[in-house]
Amino acid sequence: MAETVIMVTGSTGLVGHGIKLALEEDKKPNEKWIFLSSKDADLRDREATELLFEKYKPTHVVHLAARVGGLFNNMEHNCYFYRVNCQINDVVLDLCKEYKVQKVVSCLSTCIFPDKTTYPIDETMVHNGPPHLSNYGYSFAKRMIDVVNRVYNQQHGCHFTSIIPCNVFGPHDNFKLKEGHVLPGLIHKAYLAERDDQPFVIWGTGKPLRQFIYSVDLGRLIIWVLREYPEIEPIILAVDEEDEISISDAGELVVKAFGYQGEIVHDISKSDGQFKKTASNAKLRKYLPDFKFTPTKQAIEETVDWFKINYETARK
Ligand code: NAP
Ligand code: GDP
Repeated sequence: MAETVIMVTGSTGLVGHGIKLALEEDKKPNEKWIFLSSKDADLRDREATELLFEKYKPTHVVHLAARVGGLFNNMEHNCYFYRVNCQINDVVLDLCKEYKVQKVVSCLSTCIFPDKTTYPIDETMVHNGPPHLSNYGYSFAKRMIDVVNRVYNQQHGCHFTSIIPCNVFGPHDNFKLKEGHVLPGLIHKAYLAERDDQPFVIWGTGKPLRQFIYSVDLGRLIIWVLREYPEIEPIILAVDEEDEISISDAGELVVKAFGYQGEIVHDISKSDGQFKKTASNAKLRKYLPDFKFTPTKQAIEETVDWFKINYETARK
């Protein structure tokens, strides 16, 4: 059987580790996985990136690398998020065409959907209207991946596709308070509240709703998309709509996982961001009706345990 060489960009982050953990239970002998970080090359640099394609000759690429941040990081750096992600995507996807990569799976996100929309959101709605102002730059850069996938398919016959995950969390997340997403932020804050006997502070009203997917589940689904998903059109990788929870509920699950019994307060001077971005996973369910997501409570407990054990070295 011919060897498949799968090059994963941005694999030192949250989602990359999710794929590595999922592969531990699902290795195939004909697959060789190459995991890259920014130390291998800055993917904005075409020459340096081309050396990687020359060296590894990938038959498949999972393109995760991106400048990623939570609500507050996006609000401050909209222009930077736009530029850096457009630059990375242009270099990586064009080299995939040049090097005749057979299949590419890139990452969008449910936060890139139109802000004013009907719910649930589905895959046909990516370009229907402007995204939320808070992450305008990141969202438009990400939406362009879908455009790139379609035009490279039309003009060059490339098989480039994309996935649209909801909010992801798990081991190796970015736990920096100002930069990261809500769950790693809440986990870090609960750790400090417990350790320093301080109140646990949830930013905003706690009312916004989110679907959270565990990075290991996302890893399993990305491996399936790479091996089996036949379409160019994106596919939403999200938990079921009934598993959407409020930010306050997420905070409750985090403090329970720590056994924290202190005061819980809301800092309503901080933005709530998008109220919700409820996405339908009907397309995923059509392909994989029996896929079992790890219960959010269990996944949060596992992530909290990981954070406690790896506190010294975690990104924080
Ligand atoms: P992450 O933990 O911040 O990891 C980002 C990865 O990208 C790291 O490996 C980083 O390498 C690499 N990277 C960044 N800039 C680079 C550059 N200029 N050149 C080369 N590598 C670069 O992010 P993540 O959460 O795993 O996100 C992975 C993908 O999932 C992204 O495309 C993101 O848009 C998508 N996604 C994430 C979420 C979420 O909730 N986190 C939700 C939906 C979609 P270094 O570590 O070496 O810097
Ligand atoms: P989003 O899902 O793309 O909006 O990004 P986030 O993962 O950053 O989630 C933002 C939501 O969580 C907003 O409603 C914030 O007010 C709320 N939130 C509560 N505490 C935190 C925190 O510690 N960090 C972050 N990033 N958001 C928080």
